[in-house]
Amino acid sequence: MKRQHIVAGNWKMNKSFEEGKDLAEAVAAGLSESDTLAILAPPFIHLSALSMAVQQKLNLRLAAQNCHQENSGAYTGEIAVDMLKSVGVEFVILGHSERREYFGEDEALLAKKVDTVLAAGLKPIFCCGEKLPIREAGTHAQLVADQIKGALFHLSAEDFGKVIIAYEPVWAIGTGVTASPAQAQEMHAVIRKLVAEQYGEAIAEGTSILYGGSVKPANAKELFSQPDVDGGLVGGASLKAQDFLAIIDSF
Ligand code: PEP
Repeated sequence: MKRQHIVAGNWKMNKSFEEGKDLAEAVAAGLSESDTLAILAPPFIHLSALSMAVQQKLNLRLAAQNCHQENSGAYTGEIAVDMLKSVGVEFVILGHSERREYFGEDEALLAKKVDTVLAAGLKPIFCCGEKLPIREAGTHAQLVADQIKGALFHLSAEDFGKVIIAYEPVWAIGTGVTASPAQAQEMHAVIRKLVAEQYGEAIAEGTSILYGGSVKPANAKELFSQPDVDGGLVGGASLKAQDFLAIIDSF
């Protein structure tokens, strides 16, 4: 089975409205129609306006960087899934290491967010990955397995089939240090095996597993050539259209 190749750009808390519009339009203009899905994850307030740019290409979509776990109500400053859906968002990044670190998000909360996203008909891009001390202690596979089990393994096989996983070793995020292609492949294979044990080979073979952590035009080709690496979640390099497009073209 051919898995969906995906390159998602997480803009984090960057870009003014005008800058964001220019970036999205440059990505849309330069994107070749291909089997690779390109996803832009701008700040919430840009999503509505960027849905126009995204509609220019069949293989360009919008993601939110987060959402609230409840559907509506008195949660000042938060954003609900139906609001995201109403402006053309299809994917929601959940469990990014910065949300875990700075906003205390844990597997119990993420499991609720995953349910809310799926119930709205959106697709989660679920982030997992270890910090450096865990990698150095050699317990990274166990930690990532616990993250995935804790936030995702309550799902039915049908719902799990809609989830995209992003393996992002925290020591490689925003640091310029990339996991080697062999390190990425090793962990992606661990994740796929874990999924196969829970949901069977067919679901595991169909699950897109993205690598994230200092992906750049210079290293994307080698990372994406690994058999279990189905694309990337890109931070810094997604802020320049040329770099992001070069990464997408690395398949
Ligand atoms: C990220 O934030 O998900 C990320 C991978 O960032 P960077 O590409 O900048 O390391």
